[in-house]
Amino acid sequence: MLRVLAWLYCILGGLGLAGGGMLVAWLAADPSSGDATAIVTWLFLIVAVPLLLPAFLGGLGVLLGQSWGRVFFAIASLILLFAIPIGTAIGVVALIALTRERREAGEASGLPPLPSLSGPVGIVLAMLAVGSGFVVAIQAGFFWHGESAPLEISRIFPAAAVIIALATVWLLYALFTGTAAAATRGRVRRRNISQAQREYEAFKTGQAALLQRLDADFDLVTYADRIRAGESWNEDQIAYDRDRKATTCCEHLRDVEAAIRGEGVPVKLQLPGIVHANCTVDEPVLRARFTLDPPAWYGNLPHWDRSAEDPPAAAFKCSEHRSTIFVVEASQARPGTRVFPAR
Ligand SMILES: [Zn+2]
Ligand SMILES: [Zn+2]
Repeated sequence: MLRVLAWLYCILGGLGLAGGGMLVAWLAADPSSGDATAIVTWLFLIVAVPLLLPAFLGGLGVLLGQSWGRVFFAIASLILLFAIPIGTAIGVVALIALTRERREAGEASGLPPLPSLSGPVGIVLAMLAVGSGFVVAIQAGFFWHGESAPLEISRIFPAAAVIIALATVWLLYALFTGTAAAATRGRVRRRNISQAQREYEAFKTGQAALLQRLDADFDLVTYADRIRAGESWNEDQIAYDRDRKATTCCEHLRDVEAAIRGEGVPVKLQLPGIVHANCTVDEPVLRARFTLDPPAWYGNLPHWDRSAEDPPAAAFKCSEHRSTIFVVEASQARPGTRVFPAR
């Protein structure tokens, strides 16, 4: 419903602005039109500024999901209320659709709820606000013409003005908070998607180039096959894998890393300073052969470090540097998993 009305506002507002603007321009260009130009220009401005422009911007903004859209939409709808009877009907329906949509957006983003204008309390509040609006408009009309309004109107004018002020502030606040949160969410989501998309494209391009190079090299073609089989290998990982003497960990873990690799255990580089060794650790033998002094340590990884579904994990770590040698925790060993240090 809101989108249908937004299209209506956008099209009628846009046509009104374009048509009125063209009429004014046409009159202005014709020297024989005289006073008519000024009168039509004033009439156009009086309709365009409070109604056509907000309707066009509001419809456009709502359709685009922008934060300012609902505010202009609400302004146009409130002005329409005074155009009895068709405008009033459209304005009421538009405001109900707007508040309903804002309530749904609020629920989705955890904002404080917005009372419904279609409920009994909402209808009374809306009627009060519209009635107050008429009182304020009549009073303003008389004031405009330099006359005093009927006594009944003058007497209730202050209360009506307060109601209108409160209703306006509340409406604008409610509309802005709802859309700001929703618009931010939309923008963040769009940015995340496009960034992920870009990263994926870059990865695919790089991967294709890497495969081409690996295929061309007799020594490396086996890595190309492994990548096609679903394993992940980049240049650094291949270089580390091919050089059995290479180490990446900090000085505190380098001896252990070299010893693990020296025993022929498969060790895969994850990132600089971080490797995965496909072996379990025989701790008594380890302690007997290696001195692991702080900041280096060996042990099971604390559970808070990982998600609850992860299997238990063990690692050599340096708490001073980022170095880590992940190993297979004893309960995760499979038949054939190597044991370090070898006896
Ligand atoms: Zn270190
Ligand atoms: Zn691993």
